[in-house]
Amino acid sequence: MLDLHDYIKAIPNFPEEGIIFRDITPLLADGAAYQQATSEIVAYAKARDVNVIVGPESRGFLVGAPVANEMGLGLVPARKPGKLPREVVSESYQLEYGTASLEMHTDAIKPGDKVLITDDLLATGGTIEATIKLVEALGGTVVGLAFFIELAGLKGRERLDGYDILALLEY
Ligand code: IMP
Repeated sequence: MLDLHDYIKAIPNFPEEGIIFRDITPLLADGAAYQQATSEIVAYAKARDVNVIVGPESRGFLVGAPVANEMGLGLVPARKPGKLPREVVSESYQLEYGTASLEMHTDAIKPGDKVLITDDLLATGGTIEATIKLVEALGGTVVGLAFFIELAGLKGRERLDGYDILALLEY
């Protein structure tokens, strides 16, 4: 087993002064590390009887796509506004400065679907909370949330109280 901490770089003062950015690109660039991270999430998803994976744009795709593919499941992207060509549901959420939105096609989730939501990193939980609302608006049940990294100090886990969370690494 690899220690996946070795594949995350800490970048001080990016994108702003005072922020330590956790860079996952070394993990993605290493085949064995990426495969190990994917396998851990696959095991978690199998234990929860997941039948569809949802990932928010854009790094949620990088976590969710290999998991979906290895399990033989579909992947549903939650995208930034204006990207999806058919009828969508939308959800807005707060950023530090201003607001952002995510959208999903209205037929992307079927009532009764058991959904795993994936993203690279859990910070305040705003991105994932919006993604959960989209899934639930379409009748899906969120049975798990999986991340490479959780920034524990930002209290995303408290915001997402009641949902089951897997974080491979914690800072
Ligand atoms: P939240 O909505 O506050 O939980 O922020 C999580 C989102 O911001 C994720 O989609 C991440 O991709 C991104 N993010 C926030 N901080 C970092 C970081 O240190 N490294 C990589 N992505 C980050």
